[in-house]
Amino acid sequence: MIRLTRPSIDEEDLHAVRDVLSSGYLVQGERVGAFERAVADYVGVPHAVAVSSCTAALHLSLISLDIRPGDLVLVAAYSFVATANVIELCGARPLFVDIEPDGFNLDPNRLEDILIDLMASRETADRVKAILPVHTFGRMADMRAITRIAARYELPVIEDGACSLGARLDGRQCGTWGKAGCFSFHPRKAVTTGEGGMIVTSDSNLARRIKALRNHGQDPDLPWPEFIMPGFNYRMTEFQAALGLTQMGKLDRIISARRRLASRYDELLKDSPVRVPARAPGNDPVYQSYVVLLPEEAASHRKEIIARLRDQGIETTIGTWNMPLTSYYRTRYGYTEKNFPVASRIFRQALTLPLYENLGESEQDMIVDRLISLLNTPA
Ligand SMILES: *Cc1c(COP(=O)(O)O)cnc(C)c1O
Repeated sequence: MIRLTRPSIDEEDLHAVRDVLSSGYLVQGERVGAFERAVADYVGVPHAVAVSSCTAALHLSLISLDIRPGDLVLVAAYSFVATANVIELCGARPLFVDIEPDGFNLDPNRLEDILIDLMASRETADRVKAILPVHTFGRMADMRAITRIAARYELPVIEDGACSLGARLDGRQCGTWGKAGCFSFHPRKAVTTGEGGMIVTSDSNLARRIKALRNHGQDPDLPWPEFIMPGFNYRMTEFQAALGLTQMGKLDRIISARRRLASRYDELLKDSPVRVPARAPGNDPVYQSYVVLLPEEAASHRKEIIARLRDQGIETTIGTWNMPLTSYYRTRYGYTEKNFPVASRIFRQALTLPLYENLGESEQDMIVDRLISLLNTPA
């Protein structure tokens, strides 16, 4: 089976994890701090805080901004449900923003329209607290426009960069545009710690609050336990951090391989009926996923296409979720597809193809051949 993804784990990674396991110190040692410094240096920010997942990273970012019941948070409609769930779990309401027709990310024009409406009424203006754009599939959202709009209304931006460690826009790293950036080290992402997440920020007070919140509310700067707020246990283990450290050493190599394979897919699919991921000047994606858009007619039987490819030894899947149309949000807030026309269409058409560092060119040729011949056969 050609898998959708495979982590790049080698002997060095295995040794690093084995060393920690045999040391007997599995939590709260030196590895977590070293991994945090490695990510902070890579991204180019003063602070990085490791947590148990990107979901935890997003959750703590919102809590540390004091997002409360009744607040409103603007969020991209097309993402993994974790992005909206953390808002809902703060008691706030996610206000979903439709995505760009050419790309998978929050549309700044829609964001602006919604904010103009919200700010027109005192009642809603007071409740809007943050903007949560997502850098979907490893490609940066239009942060130039989003941060400009956010600044106009003095709203903090939290970047969901779960898929996008190493992505850049105008040479500037993902995670450095907003008040805080969140990353995931789940095995579906380019580098992994099994489960794991990281928050990066330039704001030392925010970093301090997040460090307390991940560790039962304990003051991170005191050598003895002093509990200064209620907190969680969202800590990362030492063996995950050891793995994270060796993985960070491979990140640039892995990103180059992914970019090379993505360009090769672009080339192979250039005259086919599918649409390859958009490219834009100044936007350097890391291709966490290589997602194509099927023609409308083929999209209506995407399920069978995925099943047939699986029968032929190729694992593919949908893109990500049209969050407002998942059962919970649809039922709770009464959304229909008409509210999110672009995300609804992209949700139907998206197909993720296998992509990982050691995917072979002959495997790639086979994937494209099989996909195109399926599209040419009537259902
Ligand atoms: C993977 C992902 C998450 C969740 O990350 P975890 O580390 O699995 O909690 C959140 N947002 C997006 C966009 C993701 O792709």
